Amino acid sequence: MRNRSAVFPGSFDPFTNGHLDIALRAAEIFDLVYVAVLNNAEKSPLLKAERRVELIARVLGGKKGNFKVECFDGLLVEYLRKVKVPCVVRGLRATTDYEYETQMALMNRHLDSSVETLFMVAREEHSYISSSMVKQVVRLGGDISALVPKAFISPLLKSSSK
Ligand code: ADP
Repeated sequence: MRNRSAVFPGSFDPFTNGHLDIALRAAEIFDLVYVAVLNNAEKSPLLKAERRVELIARVLGGKKGNFKVECFDGLLVEYLRKVKVPCVVRGLRATTDYEYETQMALMNRHLDSSVETLFMVAREEHSYISSSMVKQVVRLGGDISALVPKAFISPLLKSSSK
């Protein structure tokens, strides 16, 4: 039997309950899910990429499924070649995601024709959650406890008060 793997890439700054749901649902379909954390030098992240990797690994460590959490930078297609996985999983919330996500998927396929992107539709209850909104809420002192996994709460509160 083939061993099927997929890569779920993102900035995950922070990893939200929406991301968690997509990762868990991907793990129901794939034998191994790589959660690939983008170390984007252009953005100034709230949490460093290594810290995001560590916290996501902690969150997924307690869940059903096989996960590998890693950092990557540069082109996603290069990372896909490195891990020898041609399948990408992305989450879709609204029509605005659709435009951006299809453009990304087409560009990745242009760069490497073996790359296949699969979209998973966000659950309604997560469809309003985005990392950028969570960042705004935490900076303004709002309650984020229902938006992100527990492991992220105190690191987010600490780094937003710096
Ligand atoms: P990027 O910076 O690459 O867009 P994000 O960390 O914002 O990465 O998101 C990673 C993936 O997760 C994207 O495909 C995004 O559409 C999806 N996603 C973001 N928020 C949610 C959510 N609340 N529910 C489901 N999918 C989501």
